[in-house]
Amino acid sequence: MSNELLVESLPLAAAGGGPLFGRVAFIGIGLIGSSMARALAKLGLAREIVCSARSQATCDKALELGLVSQASTDAGAMVAGADLVVLCSPVGTYADLAARIAPHCTPGAIVTDVGSVKQAVIRDVAPHLPEGVHLVPGHPVAGTEHSGPEAGFAELFENRWCILTPPAGANEEAVAKVADMWRRFGSNVEFMEASHHDKVLAITSHLPHLIAYTIVGTATDLEEDTKSEVIKFSAGGFRDFTRIAASDPVMWRDIFLNNREAVLEIIQRFNEDITALQRAIRWGEGDKLEELFTRTRAIRRGVIDAKQA
Ligand code: NAP
Repeated sequence: MSNELLVESLPLAAAGGGPLFGRVAFIGIGLIGSSMARALAKLGLAREIVCSARSQATCDKALELGLVSQASTDAGAMVAGADLVVLCSPVGTYADLAARIAPHCTPGAIVTDVGSVKQAVIRDVAPHLPEGVHLVPGHPVAGTEHSGPEAGFAELFENRWCILTPPAGANEEAVAKVADMWRRFGSNVEFMEASHHDKVLAITSHLPHLIAYTIVGTATDLEEDTKSEVIKFSAGGFRDFTRIAASDPVMWRDIFLNNREAVLEIIQRFNEDITALQRAIRWGEGDKLEELFTRTRAIRRGVIDAKQA
């Protein structure tokens, strides 16, 4: 079956309304972009879905999977005529991509994104966009450690949060449309200031990833025989860190470099707290350890109750 047929056979009438968008252009079509493309198709929310990626191989894969009807490494050509453009590449690529797509954006188009940091996105993208092209930054708090267009699935965003951080003066209709899309994907939408988003995510996502990268890095620096025992007995806790530390290296490099202030602040707090624990262990202060571990156990229960486990 040709790709055109695949796309034409997608349902066009969404439950509770027709398509939200005409042409949707994904810039980057990995785990997140391909999951969104699948969700748009499944729900019939777009008349046409196209994409751009850095490599021809990824463009070809997106066509082969039937995710899009057109794909090109020329991002400008793909955004032409699109009423929704979704940046789905590592955040370090945004400034260059915004400069490349801006001259091709249709007046009235919405440019949104899925980047894991938000102040840097507004800093890097907004200055390039012409008057009448509306920026609605977003961050779906959903994902896996897998990458690429094959890794995506339409249900990824169900019962997950999507945080939107529209800058002051953002076009209300554009914001409402993007929020509507995420709600139809099954997400709960929350609005936040970009700076607040970056602080919250520094503690809930960025620091845990940094700790996982550190622990797994330390283990790989150990002697050969100890290393094999680390793998053998990994169910003791190490295993859970290896899953997080398998996340995409380029994506995470860009997150740390683009949320530097908030991450450095939270590392400082973390260092102080771990030093306090180190001291409690050295001086045999079991009550301090037990008190902390009791409090953290309650947090885990809260995560389960909030259905985010
Ligand atoms: P991914 O699976 O690695 O896919 C990245 C995509 O971006 C690929 O299609 C890649 O194309 C493309 N790309 C890379 N550099 C590019 C460039 N210079 N120009 C055009 N396209 C380029 O990544 P992902 O996990 O979907 O993450 C994408 C974004 O979502 C990131 O900004 C990340 O912060 C955010 N996010 C990720 C998660 C998660 O858990 N993964 C969760 C929430 C938000 P090639 O394949 O040709 O290189």
